[in-house]
Amino acid sequence: MTGAPPVAELATHAVTNQPPDYGGVDLFATDAALAEAALREGGAWVGAPLHDLGREAGGIDLLALGEAANRHPPELAAFDRYGQRLDEVRFHPAYDALMATAMRHGIHDVAWRAGRTGGHVLHAAMLAIFTQAEAGVMCPMSMTYASVPALRHAAPAVRDLWIGRIVGGVYDALLRPVADKQGATVGMAMTEKQGGSDVRANTTRAEPDGADGAVRLVGHKWFCSAPMSDGFLTLAQGEAGLSCYLVPRILPDGTRNAIHLQRLKDKLGNRSNASAEIEYHGAWALPVGAPGRGVATIIEMVHHTRLDTLAGTLGIMRAALARAAHHAAHRRAFQRRLIDQPAMAAVLADLAVEYEAAAVLVMRLARAFDAADGAESALARLGVALGKFWLTRRCPGFVAECLECLGGAGYIEEQALPRLYREAPLNAIWEGSGNVIALDVLRALARQPAAGAAVLAEIAAARGGH
Ligand SMILES: Cc1cc2nc3c(=O)[nH]c(=O)nc-3n(C[C@H](O)[C@H](O)[C@H](O)COP(=O)(O)OP(=O)(O)OC[C@H]3O[C@@H](n4cnc5c(N)ncnc54)[C@H](O)[C@@H]3O)c2cc1C
Repeated sequence: MTGAPPVAELATHAVTNQPPDYGGVDLFATDAALAEAALREGGAWVGAPLHDLGREAGGIDLLALGEAANRHPPELAAFDRYGQRLDEVRFHPAYDALMATAMRHGIHDVAWRAGRTGGHVLHAAMLAIFTQAEAGVMCPMSMTYASVPALRHAAPAVRDLWIGRIVGGVYDALLRPVADKQGATVGMAMTEKQGGSDVRANTTRAEPDGADGAVRLVGHKWFCSAPMSDGFLTLAQGEAGLSCYLVPRILPDGTRNAIHLQRLKDKLGNRSNASAEIEYHGAWALPVGAPGRGVATIIEMVHHTRLDTLAGTLGIMRAALARAAHHAAHRRAFQRRLIDQPAMAAVLADLAVEYEAAAVLVMRLARAFDAADGAESALARLGVALGKFWLTRRCPGFVAECLECLGGAGYIEEQALPRLYREAPLNAIWEGSGNVIALDVLRALARQPAAGAAVLAEIAAARGGH
């Protein structure tokens, strides 16, 4: 009888020369450049919370949640089965778990809760670390963090209610009035179809509606990310011109505000996070800041989200570099580990040096956000624009280089690199695209010459050093 050959003879391949899975690392402890920069700029006290987050974000569980939240993107539930408006987004449970984790670590509020210098450094370092597990949820974390300085311009009762739910708040996805919630998240709605950079072209109207400056909004917004947030800082044309308003998702009486989700964007990356096109059909809103001073008010939010475009970029760069180094340390070609091949060592060294410089830059700028004095805030104003322009432009090429270090494997969706590659261009686009930032730099130099002097003084201090 001629039977099948024994299994051992059938074996066509043994899996060799492949790296072990990446994960199970403390993303803070294993990142000497970030650790040094964060401790130097923020103070020794930021070390413990960063280790806590680093261990959790680098653990295989959170990395798996990040993959799942991107593999199962959010879906719009515009109507219920009977045709009633719902205007809700349905998320995979992984997204909720990631949001809860991010808020438990205080990425959204630690800068305002710290009560000591270094809070913004800790926030930025946390955002960079969490981004390595999942970038999408950092959008609502960043907007919520950044909403606080703008919300300070609201009437005292509104300010205290909302900031009181943000600072110290936990993730609470239930749709109910903010006063009844354990924590709140805030988004921002500026961009309209006819203009995103040029927000003065906004056409959304704000019609007076009773006391306290309340208004009813009629209009649309072309991009509104994290549309399940509890409130949105939005720009609309009021009687005094373009003004800033806070639009709660649920009204104080528990009913839904007239914020209608038209559709969700089908995005290149950042897919775990929903970005909606919305319409206001008489949505109730309260003023934030002086009437007609909408841009001046919301720019305080934008100034802080810009810092996060830098921190997010840092996280993307680090995640890509770590995967490249991990692969090269385990994979062999031509009788050597890749990392020991001179050409690969040179590639990785270039990438590592660029990442280390980025870590120094981002942590230094975050410290400037912590300091109240004039020279530091001047440095923050101009430095964040310069840093955003530079780092976000470098990021896609940087990630592509890291991707190539994995060879063909880097191009395969099961790896982290394709997701990072799609995420890489985004931080350049929002909160001011390249040209807009370049024009903003010129405006800052003209209006605030001290900002230019502060940047030059900072560079001069490093002259001749390594
Ligand atoms: C995933 C995602 C999520 C987003 N989420 C939100 C959100 O939650 N809320 C929100 O309000 N917006 C959001 N946006 C919108 C984003 O902020 C805008 O897309 C961005 O500000 C650019 O505006 P725009 O798309 O209208 O482009 P435009 O303003 O039309 O600009 C197009 C290009 O022209 C350049 N440009 C503009 N003006 C000039 C000039 N004067 N000189 C030279 N060049 C110029 C810009 O730099 C850009 O490269 C999101 C965008 C994306 C991609």
